Amino acid sequence: MKIGFNEGCDRYCEGHSVLRDLELCEQYGFDFIDIQSECLDRDLAAGKVTLEQLGEWFRTHRLKMLSYNALCFFNMKQTEAEKTAVMAELDEIVRRCGILGCRMIVVVPSKDIAVHATRGEIRADAVAVLKEMLKKTQPHGIKLSLEFCGVPGMTINRFEDAYAVVQEVGSPLVGVTLDQYHFHAMASGWDALEKADGKKIFIWHLNDMEDVPCGAAYNTDEKRLWPGDARGCLDHKRYADTLKKIGFDGGCCTVEVFRPDYYRLSQEENVRAAAESAKAHVAKYW
Ligand code: ZN
Repeated sequence: MKIGFNEGCDRYCEGHSVLRDLELCEQYGFDFIDIQSECLDRDLAAGKVTLEQLGEWFRTHRLKMLSYNALCFFNMKQTEAEKTAVMAELDEIVRRCGILGCRMIVVVPSKDIAVHATRGEIRADAVAVLKEMLKKTQPHGIKLSLEFCGVPGMTINRFEDAYAVVQEVGSPLVGVTLDQYHFHAMASGWDALEKADGKKIFIWHLNDMEDVPCGAAYNTDEKRLWPGDARGCLDHKRYADTLKKIGFDGGCCTVEVFRPDYYRLSQEENVRAAAESAKAHVAKYW
């Protein structure tokens, strides 16, 4: 099992930069990195780095980019202008992926929408949008990985709903991002995960979390912990055993937390702590 680092872990650490993340991830033994779009946009706008420099870095190092994280709020758009904007953003991300050598884009559902849509309506819309997106990504061999988010106001907030969308799209290039925090935070069904085809899970986001109630307003990404933290409530053995049983072959667990305490660490301390927790997790459960 390879290990990955998601820049959500350290994006607000003092003086953060994407290029430094690449160096630190290589140094501390990560195999993959998820670059967060907000980190990349920030560095590009500040003139800290160019896409070409990052692409050159990847060509000359061991560390690879697992995913572009993310195209946010892709579905349930109500106007043509909104729909066009999503596709234009996808075009730009595909262009960037070409330069960075990245073959996967995470797509995140819309939240707090004004229309009172049913799950069926949301599913039909998401399937249609993903099929449109696929027309743009397929020629480049780029995969789309739908990340359901365990937040009450999210349009797709449980594993079973995301999986149903992916099944209906029916393409080997469209799968699910399974984030342990998101799975637990809105009580996704273990029965659904146990019945799923593991090959349709492209990305596994590894983390722990404080034991707070499902759906509570304060049950947010900030309650995430490094995997293995003594305060955590997630059943790591069950996640790992289930993924093995259903044939998950993403080959990587990617640490992703968004904890304010961890942003007070230096960027290096943060990446080092993430690497230690990921390695300990793999040693224990794989
Ligand atoms: Zn995630």
